[in-house]
Amino acid sequence: MESQSVILRVNGPVIFADHMGFAGLGEQVDVGNEKLTGEIISLANDVATIQVYEDTTGLKPGEPVVGRGEPLSVWLGPGILRSIYDGIQRPLSKLHDFSGTFLKRGLSTPGIDIEKRWAFTPRRSVGDAVVALSIVGDVPETELITHRVMVPPRLSGTLSWIAEAGDYTVTDIIAKVATDKGEREITMLQKWPIREPRPIAKRLPPRVPMITGQRVIDFLFPAARGGACAIPGGFGTGKTVTQHQLAKWSDVDVIVYIGCGERGNEMTQVLEEFPVLIDPHSGKPIMERTSLIANTSNMPVTAREASIYTGITMAEFYRDMGYHVAVMADSTSRWAEALREISGRLEQMPAEEGYPAYLASRIGDVYERAGRTEIAEADGSTREGSLTIIGAVSPPGGDFSEPVVTHTKRFVRTFWGLDRELASARHFPSIHWNTSYSEYDVSAWYVEHAELPWTELRDRTRALLKEDERLQNIVKLIGADALPDRQRIVIESSRLVKEAFLQQSAFSEVDSYCPIEKQLAMIDTILTFHECALKASSDGKPVHQILSAPIVEEIHRMKESIRSDELDRFNEMKRKIEASF
Ligand code: ADP
Repeated sequence: MESQSVILRVNGPVIFADHMGFAGLGEQVDVGNEKLTGEIISLANDVATIQVYEDTTGLKPGEPVVGRGEPLSVWLGPGILRSIYDGIQRPLSKLHDFSGTFLKRGLSTPGIDIEKRWAFTPRRSVGDAVVALSIVGDVPETELITHRVMVPPRLSGTLSWIAEAGDYTVTDIIAKVATDKGEREITMLQKWPIREPRPIAKRLPPRVPMITGQRVIDFLFPAARGGACAIPGGFGTGKTVTQHQLAKWSDVDVIVYIGCGERGNEMTQVLEEFPVLIDPHSGKPIMERTSLIANTSNMPVTAREASIYTGITMAEFYRDMGYHVAVMADSTSRWAEALREISGRLEQMPAEEGYPAYLASRIGDVYERAGRTEIAEADGSTREGSLTIIGAVSPPGGDFSEPVVTHTKRFVRTFWGLDRELASARHFPSIHWNTSYSEYDVSAWYVEHAELPWTELRDRTRALLKEDERLQNIVKLIGADALPDRQRIVIESSRLVKEAFLQQSAFSEVDSYCPIEKQLAMIDTILTFHECALKASSDGKPVHQILSAPIVEEIHRMKESIRSDELDRFNEMKRKIEASF
């Protein structure tokens, strides 16, 4: 709707406009002569406060503001995968093509290519009952992912027409649904407001692990499918390498990677590295199942603020299709800083460390969009989808008591605390067993899917590490040699747990990914050593002989020397351990 509203005042990415009575909160607006994209974030007495997602340099009071009549939304349809977007879903390669190296302002490029034709195959016939999220047909979106064309949320009825198999654009009508309120046309394209979670009909408990092949994660601090996880750590502690490992190895179908880099070069690194990463499961480029959102440093903070919601909304769309999706946000601290900067421009009362008082609720809104869901078809058949959110947090100075980390802890149930000391000692992943935790109970899954008893092995390992932690305090004072034999064995076995088991190089060909069977066989071997060593010691064998047995060296090497396809060799190891003592 056209209106008489004009800009009153410009304050960086925030502007104020009058005569805005026609508009609604959250509505998307075109700002100024260049039609920059903005969103109304507050309305009072006809004056709107608008955050603008593009550089506002040169914008002047008196220029027009026009409402678009809809909230800030993303376009959902085939073509999201393999794409690289900015924070408000403008394709970066397109913007680059249109305007050279720098993003030109006021370009409203659709997030989905509207000219490209996709090969659609119908799955249903006229007369079929359909409900919200019913799949009406398939489109091969990439080499790895089949796009499922769904009935939009909140719509149900009977299929009154469906297109034949063939090539269609995303705006071509491919089906019609007869509803109580008349016929509705369906295209491959849906729009969805980024700040509104897509509806979930049924939530499933997060009891299935997201297997990552990283021992410290799967064995000690598992992520659940549909879970909310945080990786906090100071600079150089391994957040990026861990996120890449998770992107490469996690058993999820689709990845949405949201890069909120502070410095331009951090983001350039992601933009260069991701497109060449190979998916180890399929041997194809990882971009075949990935969408990347890049907030480069020349983009305003407002786009960074929106980017998390943009990414999560796209992820929810694939979850609804019945895929397991992981969203990785690196880093949420940069996103929180964007909130702080915008709040400052709005002259809001600052709370802790200058962050707005609503920081916690915003963080909560983000992580609460994670979940494992069941989607029902009209005939009662169901499919499962999940959306796992993994947020990296980069607190200044690696301080876990600052507001972003403490508030994040309230909403995530898996916490992988990266530790500076471990990182400097080159113990990677530097996820510390004392500060990390996981509250997801995936034990029932392991009972069903693993031969060795995960819960029991994990409890024993944790007890050992706990005792070691206590003993290390004594060792600091009096040295290990002064300890009784039993305790020296505890310290030595814990060292094996830490070095031979928890350390895992992302760059090792053999060990970069460790299947759960191997994980359990490895820890079982170490715990067998521990029991046998304790027994031998109580039978009178001198502790120095126990600890210098050649088998100790073999245990140290097992992650590299025993490949995942030769797990029988662990039985051999156990026999050797028993024979050694
Ligand atoms: P951050 O993103 O936290 O600043 P990075 O992820 O870039 O840190 O990690 C810094 C360095 O630590 C890497 O270049 C790499 O050498 C090492 N590193 C981190 N994680 C691992 C790992 N799992 N295996 C081997 N090396 C690692």
